[in-house]
Amino acid sequence: MHRIYRDKPALLAVGLLLVAPIIAYSANNRPAQPRLILQITVDQLRGDLITRYYDRFGDGGFRYLMDQGLVYTDAHHRHANTETIVGHATLATGADPSIHGMVANVWLDRSTGELTYNIEDPRYPILSKDAGVDKKTEIDHTQKTARSDGRSPSRILVSTFSDELTLFQGGQSKVFGVSIKDRGAVSMAGHTGKAFWFSKKLSEFITSRFYYDNYPDWVKEWNEQKPGSEYAGESWQLMHDQSTYMFGESDDRPYETKLPGFGRTFPHAYGKPGDKYFTTLLTVSPAGDEMTLDFAKSLVQHEDIGKDEKTDYLSISFSSTDYVGHMFGASSLEMEDNILRLDRILAELFEFVDSGIGLDNTLIVFSADHGGPEAPGYLSELGFEADYIDTSTFDKAGAIKALKQRFGIGEELITTYFHPYLYLNREAIAEQGLDQEEVELAVAAEINRFKGVALAYPSTALSKGNIADTPLSRSVLSNYNPNRSGDIYLVFEPNRFIADFGGLVVAAAHGSPWRYDTYVPIIFAGMDIPAHKVHRRVYTTAIAPTLSLYIGAKPPTGSMDEALIEVLSRD
Ligand SMILES: [Zn+2]
Repeated sequence: MHRIYRDKPALLAVGLLLVAPIIAYSANNRPAQPRLILQITVDQLRGDLITRYYDRFGDGGFRYLMDQGLVYTDAHHRHANTETIVGHATLATGADPSIHGMVANVWLDRSTGELTYNIEDPRYPILSKDAGVDKKTEIDHTQKTARSDGRSPSRILVSTFSDELTLFQGGQSKVFGVSIKDRGAVSMAGHTGKAFWFSKKLSEFITSRFYYDNYPDWVKEWNEQKPGSEYAGESWQLMHDQSTYMFGESDDRPYETKLPGFGRTFPHAYGKPGDKYFTTLLTVSPAGDEMTLDFAKSLVQHEDIGKDEKTDYLSISFSSTDYVGHMFGASSLEMEDNILRLDRILAELFEFVDSGIGLDNTLIVFSADHGGPEAPGYLSELGFEADYIDTSTFDKAGAIKALKQRFGIGEELITTYFHPYLYLNREAIAEQGLDQEEVELAVAAEINRFKGVALAYPSTALSKGNIADTPLSRSVLSNYNPNRSGDIYLVFEPNRFIADFGGLVVAAAHGSPWRYDTYVPIIFAGMDIPAHKVHRRVYTTAIAPTLSLYIGAKPPTGSMDEALIEVLSRD
């Protein structure tokens, strides 16, 4: 009903409209034009993490979303590879990875034979010197595959909602994406917006030449305050008395990752600026989200976001939940405190938006790029069978050795595994005059029998539609892009995954098509959005076309899903 502010005279004259079914089009049939569309993504926020701690939340954060928003209780990603860029690009474009092209955080570029990081683009280096990935300290192993520090959205093959907003408004909208992670910012800003992300090397928010030739003054000023320095010598402490937490008595668990100096138990010391892992540790705690919020607030103020009639777009992707989930698991004291602190961060964000722009003028959409598994060690404590997987031994396994003999291949047959794809030695296959499909089928058939493997999908079978029509197969197919997908897609059995992040063994790793990884919140709030729960199964591909139709813009290029009718109509 907040739209009465825009159409006050008409609505006062026709008071009936207030009780009659109201659709998202006002009396003059003009679609709603929020001043701001605020898209919030929490990295690795599994859907149940917010219901589990509902009673512990304060006012104005998650409770504002959950009590006053339109909540989809059974929302999922539909694609199999539930990784960060895949989920973000899906949220941004409404397309499946088969269409938007972000099939994995990393894939093998067949033209160069090199692994490629999703948003890597050597044409557009980072504006700051020496701000790229520090391969010695980076805990995000996917980042280490990038060979340049350049970043752009050029590999996202279709338009994002944010692009459609730019087009709809004739280029007069302001469109921004902010995140600790580069891919969390670049994906959402689309091809037409501007993105800022955090450099662990510099402890500053940075951007690339794709977006700017020079930093805006306000960014320089923000970075000159030495962000992160306020955490020097500090530690991540529990917000409440430890005995009040669900996991208050299980802080120290052997399967948790023990980062140098940070340890497995509270308080987690950050160390001081200049320490090898200082900025990394900030991101593995709510400090990363606090810095993201502070930067986003500065952006809103200095870029005059939401100040005029033209709808602006701001995406904030909060990364801390993901790092905490990887290091400590979804059911850890660290995750519990992180979620309670995220609740306070959201409350501060909503209060800030309300005071400057008005929540009545802001359409909020909240979701996650993927869920996350439990740590296998935790599941084992409860009686589940769960384990880690090592694919590096696959090529040397007896069954594969036998296949190599049969095919006359005297070298490696499986050259690379980078989640979720196995890459075969295509040169050797060609040299032997073998049929790629035959080899793929033979390798997949053997690997299907390996311990911990649920299903291995040969890409030639996917490309020919030669697979059983099951929900699992459909999720793998929606992830299949002929130019980027590897030769065999591996689905591990539930609760089994690779935990080796390039030498660092983590507690948990998402990326499966199982429900704990696909299950995410979808909540709309602000504007005229009613408080309502929808229990129908919906997919994250519906978000982008819904945003488009809400403002009357055309759906993003590759968005094939239906819009969410509850956001658009008021029956
Ligand atoms: Zn993620």
